[in-house]
Amino acid sequence: MIKYNLVCKKCDLTFDSWFASSLEFEKLKKKKLINCHSCGSMRVEKNLMAPKLISKTIRYKNVNKDLLKYQKIKKTISKYQKFIENNFDYVGENFAYEARSIHYNEKKADKGIYGTASKRDLKELKEEGIDAQVIPWVESENN
Ligand SMILES: [Zn+2]
Repeated sequence: MIKYNLVCKKCDLTFDSWFASSLEFEKLKKKKLINCHSCGSMRVEKNLMAPKLISKTIRYKNVNKDLLKYQKIKKTISKYQKFIENNFDYVGENFAYEARSIHYNEKKADKGIYGTASKRDLKELKEEGIDAQVIPWVESENN
């Protein structure tokens, strides 16, 4: 159930009314089943000046700001990712193995490598003196 503060556009009466959902409100409004308690006019709208709705708007704006911040970070990570994709060889799950190959066998590697490794792999590599960096990664949106 959802409570709306409604306002009559004809006589300016405001009143509260309960609906099963916001969708039900729209449906009833379309079917002209919502009318003013005082003058019977069908020109009844949700009262957007209700304090409850204003606080909701503010909260929504804050969420938006966070979202923008997130998208900005994501953009930076994406740029970083592109650089890595262009300059490093992707070895996927074999990261720990490949890193060791380079480290111990002096395998010729013009490029660095990147891939996925477990926390345990990373800890072991670190103990063996192999330098691996953990970087944030975002999934491509095309997938
Ligand atoms: Zn009215």
